[in-house]
Amino acid sequence: MKLIYQFNEGNKDMKDILGGKGANLAEMTSLGLNVPPGFTISTTACRKYLEDNVLWLELKETVLSNLRLLELKTEKSFLGNRNLQPLLLSVRSGAPNSMPGMMDTILNLGLNDTSVKLMADFTSNERFAYDSYRRFIEMFSNVVAEIPRIEFEKQLESVKIEKNYNSDSDLTISDLKLLIEKYKKIYFDFEKTEFPEDPTRQLFLAVEAVFRSWNNPRAITYRNLHKISHDIGTAVNIQSMVFGNMGKTSGTGVLFSRNPINGNDELFGEYLMNAQGEDVVAGIRTPLEISELNKEFPNIYKELFDTSKKLELYFKDIQDIEFTIENGKLYFLQVRNAKRTPLAAVNSACEFVNEGLIDKKEAIKRISSKDIENLLHPVFDDTYLKKSKVVGKGLAASPGAASGKVYFSPADVTIAKNKGEKVILVREETSPEDIEGMLYSEGILTSKGGMTSHAAVVARGIGKCCITGCEDIAFNKDEKYIVINDVVIKEGDFISIDGSTGNIYLGEIPKVKLDTNENFKILLKWLDEFRKIGVRANADTPNDAMHANQFNTDGIGLCRTEHMFFNKIRIPIVRSMILANYEDERKEYLDELLKFQREDFVEIFKLMDNKPVTVRLLDPPLHEFLPKTDVEIKNLAASMGLTMNDMLYRIENLKESNPMLGHRGCRLAITFPEIYKMQARAIIEAAVISKENGININPEIMIPLVCDKKELKFIKNHLVDEINKVFKEKNNSVEYHIGTMIEIPRAALLADEIAEEADFFSYGTNDLTQMTFGFSRDDSNKFLFDYMNHDVFSTNPFSTLDKKGVGKLIEMSAQLGRTTNKNIKLGICGEQAGDPEALELYSKLGITYLSCSPFRIPLVKLALAKLAINQDSAGQSITN
Ligand code: PEP
Ligand code: MG
Repeated sequence: MKLIYQFNEGNKDMKDILGGKGANLAEMTSLGLNVPPGFTISTTACRKYLEDNVLWLELKETVLSNLRLLELKTEKSFLGNRNLQPLLLSVRSGAPNSMPGMMDTILNLGLNDTSVKLMADFTSNERFAYDSYRRFIEMFSNVVAEIPRIEFEKQLESVKIEKNYNSDSDLTISDLKLLIEKYKKIYFDFEKTEFPEDPTRQLFLAVEAVFRSWNNPRAITYRNLHKISHDIGTAVNIQSMVFGNMGKTSGTGVLFSRNPINGNDELFGEYLMNAQGEDVVAGIRTPLEISELNKEFPNIYKELFDTSKKLELYFKDIQDIEFTIENGKLYFLQVRNAKRTPLAAVNSACEFVNEGLIDKKEAIKRISSKDIENLLHPVFDDTYLKKSKVVGKGLAASPGAASGKVYFSPADVTIAKNKGEKVILVREETSPEDIEGMLYSEGILTSKGGMTSHAAVVARGIGKCCITGCEDIAFNKDEKYIVINDVVIKEGDFISIDGSTGNIYLGEIPKVKLDTNENFKILLKWLDEFRKIGVRANADTPNDAMHANQFNTDGIGLCRTEHMFFNKIRIPIVRSMILANYEDERKEYLDELLKFQREDFVEIFKLMDNKPVTVRLLDPPLHEFLPKTDVEIKNLAASMGLTMNDMLYRIENLKESNPMLGHRGCRLAITFPEIYKMQARAIIEAAVISKENGININPEIMIPLVCDKKELKFIKNHLVDEINKVFKEKNNSVEYHIGTMIEIPRAALLADEIAEEADFFSYGTNDLTQMTFGFSRDDSNKFLFDYMNHDVFSTNPFSTLDKKGVGKLIEMSAQLGRTTNKNIKLGICGEQAGDPEALELYSKLGITYLSCSPFRIPLVKLALAKLAINQDSAGQSITN
């Protein structure tokens, strides 16, 4: 078992062993970049450590022999040769999956009371040497001994206050020496032992601490969130230090080969002169834009530019590069694929295909469902935005729009979130400990830090709206309020933040859905090229159909006709129709509804132009439609010419103990066939009108809640009669199909019989789940939470398909249905149609199409395209 790899021994394909950072350091070294030399302790070693909890002899010896090689390469000494400059090390974690800021790093390791003096002599920079030592003690104590950093910061602050300093750089050498003594005392007070002087001991303790950091709570939270296995372990990178804080010709920065916010092909990044890397990431000083470097040090800027392009070409992706300039010499410390916003993900994937760097399949693989989800996130409604006052402005660090109550600590965010409040987390800056609070908040606002600060990077990664570096914010932490440009905002006050502009507003601003860009449309077309299952929309109105068209829907898989009546004018008519006592009375209202339905169908058919449209006939659990408030009841009574008593009597008569299992769906049409006849007429008349206008629609009429073939046959006969009447009246005809939903277990069990009367099946997995489990759709949320809390269920079957039970019914009924009609068309139209975990099953069962809400179409298409690409490549590897 090889435990350690020098940087020149690995490559980018060894992420599992070397971690992402180690593999890329190795790759950069072989590409000939100026990388400070070092070596990587493998994840294999970490796993063994986590099992045994001790650093074993073989590992220690291997570390020491690699250290000697490092000493030779750098011509510096780690072990204390006074004739050589001290070799200082950075010790950093690096897991196979990038987990930014989640685990620990120690810099300047190797400093002690002796080497600090040598360092001062060799660099002729005493201040630098002692400042590095101070920082090292703080980091080491925090990571290895878990002493809170605040203990050290308090000491630093007290010296600054006492001496009236504004910034850390005002500290004199004697201040630093004093602080070092104070820091060591803190270490002693906590650990009851002296701060370790021996560099080898420092190194072993640091390696152990980095191994252990794999299991720190924030790393565990991050892995849970990103579904990363807890068994992998982290590698440890041990690298010779270079210093960005050596003076005016030294500096450090972060660079992206393209803009990670919008994907534009332009260098993007920030740097700080005379600073160490942590100063940039922690947001302690606000850095300069990378373009400024071109003015200060054009040669270095050019080298950075050329290298970033070279790396991008090599890795075929946007690169995130950390660099340090030490006395005018450029070093590359890290390179990785950049975290990016959803917009940048889509734009860059498309651009890379245009540039011939990657193919469409690779572009699709690079887009996550979260990217699409976030891209379709709402933005502030322009009409309200125009009226809202901007109270402050920061850096637009992560796009999106968020409103919520202001809280100033992650703990308070968690409490507020548990109370059901929407929260904006407002901080000076964030640190990895804040991850939970960040996750719970709608958006994040910080007063310090740049575009690559912790808050910005994490927010982009988790798709949260974020503004950083709003320096106008003054905090009053004790009394829990902030002041932005004279406006006081107290804890619990509502604000709105726009992560795309950096604007901060008072109060809550309504949001609207975002218009998608050209590249998004191109991507959608690519998804269509690869996916093998149809994706239709659940669209009940022309407006829904319009949204669905935006995402190139394959048609409409479920038009819930009762939803067409959810407006002020129509609902009283539906109510009157339901409450009518006699057929004549009912017909009067049905005639009115016919007009509305026909109009809507004409509109929808026009939008769907030649695509399939499945219209589901009325399926209202009656309680959803009965008037409830006194005013509604009074108005309805007046419009129907009934007394209040008559009205109340009729409502009482229609009340059911269990409406979900009551007089709904096709049962309504067994009692009142005229209702479905009116709907069939509206659909067919609209189809004929469309045909006359050159639009070819073959409507699919769908009967809900069928449990027996005879039910379906009875209704179908009525529908066919009515449809034939329309054809006769219009002297015209259209092709149509009549099918059924499979949403009652009995229908699934008798699917072969039902298929004798049905041209198609569409699985109503909402009702099928309700009736298979016997869990009420309306009430089960109350107890399903407990099921999941106690691990009785791992997921909610109303959102994730229950493959074991409901899936089995689908499979069985599909097979049964095919014994009667081998080409029967099969759709899924319940919520679970969009469940990514179920797509493999749907594909295996030969489902023709999935039907979901319009805004889910791109997500389902993406998942289906990825499935098809994976299936193809699995197929290829079998045949090859
Ligand atoms: C279903 O039951 O899955 C379905 C699509 O119909 P509805 O949700 O309207 O009952
Ligand atoms: Mg249903």
